[in-house]
Amino acid sequence: MEVRFWGTRGSVATSGAQFVRHGGNTTCVEVRAGGWRLIFDAGTGIRALGEAMLRPDTLKLPTAIFFTHLHWDHLQGFPFFGPAWDPRWKLFLFGPGEGGGERLEASLRQQMLPPQFPVAFDAMRSQMEFRDAPPNRRLELGEHVIVKSAALDHPNGCNGYRVEADDASFVFCTDVEVPPDLALPKRIVDFAEDADLLAFDAQYTPEEYEGHVGACRKGWGHSTMIEAARIAGAAKVKRLLLTHHDPSHDDDAIQAKVDAARVIFPATDAAHEGQRLRLRGARPWIRLSDEPSTSEVSVH
Ligand SMILES: [Zn+2]
Ligand SMILES: [Zn+2]
Repeated sequence: MEVRFWGTRGSVATSGAQFVRHGGNTTCVEVRAGGWRLIFDAGTGIRALGEAMLRPDTLKLPTAIFFTHLHWDHLQGFPFFGPAWDPRWKLFLFGPGEGGGERLEASLRQQMLPPQFPVAFDAMRSQMEFRDAPPNRRLELGEHVIVKSAALDHPNGCNGYRVEADDASFVFCTDVEVPPDLALPKRIVDFAEDADLLAFDAQYTPEEYEGHVGACRKGWGHSTMIEAARIAGAAKVKRLLLTHHDPSHDDDAIQAKVDAARVIFPATDAAHEGQRLRLRGARPWIRLSDEPSTSEVSVH
């Protein structure tokens, strides 16, 4: 299994010399496993991923995009995702919750309506198939990939995802609020248990969360690096990456969060744009023809 981060910023994209180490694009993560390309969220990071996918030397893998939720920092890149415009591509798009596929399609259409956008959604000519990703389910992609979903505490709801394939596991929990000083939610700890890699929301410092610096952020739907580290420790994951970096946090501020989290969970880093991790047990990728994939997807 290979995990690659194309966008790790939360809330809104940012740029500038002080952000280059971690990057400024909003959430997008690519996972290649079991002969599939899974994409988590279509923040602005998905634009560059699309360019990479269209290069002639890139493997054409069946592709499924899982949306954690429909907040704009997780959708905004989709109109700039090249494969969505190409009729040769088939894309499975999973929206969170019962009826999530329909809501996802409506949201993607809506963000391209006039007067906000110059080109209509229907001009995107790829074969899109919208599916539901209800929480607490197990989805099978082909024979070798399992994706599990869990409901996370976030305004309007959010799905966490756990990918199991190639004898490895990756858990992605962005946009989740774990209040400090309370018992950790067992549901999330169990969901992340023993993962080879956990990427977890760590948007705020404790001072920001409590409102000692600027507005009080309680109820805004995000965690601090301390709670991310506590979850990682309780779940006994092998490695933790902090993600959904606040747009006001420059590279030094993010490093300070990593240093604080390492006191609790030493195997902590901050996710950064362009980061590529190969998790154990990589299976050789299946090379496909140029035909669009008709690989099976089933939900249990
Ligand atoms: Zn977000
Ligand atoms: Zn959100």
